[in-house]
Parts: sequence; C-alpha cells; structure tokens
Amino acid sequence: MEKDCVFCQIIRGEKAADFLYQDESLVVFKDIHPHAPIHLLIVPRRHIRSINDLTEQDRDVISEMILRAGEMAREHSIAESGYKLLFNVERGGGQVIPHLHLHLVGGWG
Ligand code: 5GP
Ligand code: ZN
Repeated sequence: MEKDCVFCQIIRGEKAADFLYQDESLVVFKDIHPHAPIHLLIVPRRHIRSINDLTEQDRDVISEMILRAGEMAREHSIAESGYKLLFNVERGGGQVIPHLHLHLVGGWG
C-alpha cells in the first residue's frame, strides 16, 4: 500500500468510489470521468505500479482481472455488443495513476 496513491486510498476506504465488485485480490469501481456509457476500472488490491512491474507472483491476479472484466461485461449486458479492455502503461502510454488498472469501456450500443 502506497500512502499517496489514489487507488490505494480508494481500496483502503479513505476515498469514496462507486464499487461494483470486491474480493480478496481485486476491486472494480466506476471511473470518475467516464469515456463511454460504461467505464469501469479493474484494480488489484496490491500496489503494482504498471505492467512493467509484473512478476511471476502476479500471474494469478492478472488472469483474475481479465476473467473479472469478462464477467463485468456480461453483468452490464455488453458482452455481446462488445467492449474494449485497455492497460495504459507509464506516462507515454497515457497512465496517470501509477497503480495497475484495467479499463473496461463500452456500452455504445
Ligand atoms: P489512466 O490514465 O491512469 O490509465 O487512468 C486512470 C483513470 O482513473 C482515469 O480514467 C481517471 O478518470 C480515473 N480516476 C482518477 N482518479 C479517480 C478517482 O479518484 N476515482 C475514480 N473512481 N476514478 C479516478
Ligand atoms: Zn496504489
């Protein structure tokens, strides 16, 4: 847990978020500035900076994030119509929050 990390603060309950799912390894909440009718963030509880920092021990959490994304898409009835999954990586890749997260965006119709 990083003291000044916004997503760690959300996970610790120090900052409000609209949670849709939580388990022992990850959380899902709505993006505060949605870029699509449905814009969710799938976030591991453990503070991992970015895809660049993944190690063997993160294998399970990454697969859980992707499986959960598919489940959230089904729950929001966008699995059939389609959606995007996106990891921004570091500043040049558009990553603003340095705590690994998977964007799920969709719902355009
Ligand atoms: P990034 O650009 O790092 O891949 O995406 C970070 C995302 O987190 C952005 O889409 C931004 O809108 C969202 N975000 C930033 N701060 C907060 C916050 O405090 N709460 C929530 N729910 N989303 C946030
Ligand atoms: Zn963090």
